[in-house]
Amino acid sequence: AKAAGRRTYQRYTEQMEWELRQRATLSGALRKVLENGELRLVYQPRLSLRTGAITGVEALLRWEHPYLGLIPPNHFIPLAEESGMILPIGEWVMREACTTLRRWRQHGLGTLNMSVNVSALQLLRGDLPRYVAKVLADTGVPGERLELELTESVVMAKAAQAAQTMQALRDLGVRLAIDDFGTGYSSLAYLKRLPITTLKIDKAFIDDIAQNRDDKAITHSIIAMARTLGLYVVAEGVEHQAQARLLMEQHCDEIQGYWVARPLDPYRCLAFLRNWRSGVAR
Ligand code: C2E
Ligand code: CA
Ligand code: CA
Ligand code: CA
Repeated sequence: AKAAGRRTYQRYTEQMEWELRQRATLSGALRKVLENGELRLVYQPRLSLRTGAITGVEALLRWEHPYLGLIPPNHFIPLAEESGMILPIGEWVMREACTTLRRWRQHGLGTLNMSVNVSALQLLRGDLPRYVAKVLADTGVPGERLELELTESVVMAKAAQAAQTMQALRDLGVRLAIDDFGTGYSSLAYLKRLPITTLKIDKAFIDDIAQNRDDKAITHSIIAMARTLGLYVVAEGVEHQAQARLLMEQHCDEIQGYWVARPLDPYRCLAFLRNWRSGVAR
């Protein structure tokens, strides 16, 4: 039993060492990610349940490393936040997303909105409103066409600090969404006080919405609450028609998820958007 315990322990420390080494490898590679041009954005469409139109897209980050392969954002964004690399990376994302939108706007997609994920550090330390204003001016994208997705936990934990930055962004016309809503510890009072325009209901609540009465009740009350507060509601991670139908019955404003479209590279996304407008898709 003792020997087995020792073996388990050894395996455990080996696993830990491997993970630490992998983290070190990733952190090292992450430092050069911008100069090596290894980042790209994919875009996931958002569908209005009221009009059936695609109203916008969310920009999602992809890191393609020459020999480590495609590294998912959930693996490297926490590392980028620890090292502060998320600041220059976040600026790259903002500029790239707005540059793409500028190009698409020239293809007749003038009312399309662009949503960009913004991390805690950017909101709290970065000179975010000034940078956003500069990117908007450089690309000619109106502030009203840009939405920033902020995670619930940050906004709530540092509400006072975040509120000023958020207001400065709103003054540019930029919309503000609370991302992954329902997973953190939002207080209604804060929600009311902060200049938020949109709630994105987390996928975790959407997954079983068609089978689970509790989840159905949760989305129903989130949507009702949002309505009371004058907020726009988006459901994320919609994979099936049954979920979409239910959310439509609950008067959810918009949905996003594989059922509408997967995240697409810019070329395929533009094709998707143009086909949708001409009524070819779905
Ligand atoms: P998120 O903001 O909640 O983004 C939604 C995630 O769910 C995306 O994963 C998307 O590909 C995935 N997804 C969308 N629809 C479906 C669906 O129907 N089914 C399933 N199973 N998944 C779906 P992704 O692209 O891996 O991004 C993961 C997270 O990484 C994002 O979660 C976001 O928090 C973060 N992230 C991505 N890009 C950026 C960025 O540019 N900046 C920052 N700070 N964070 C980012
Ligand atoms: Ca998001
Ligand atoms: Ca989300
Ligand atoms: Ca999520």
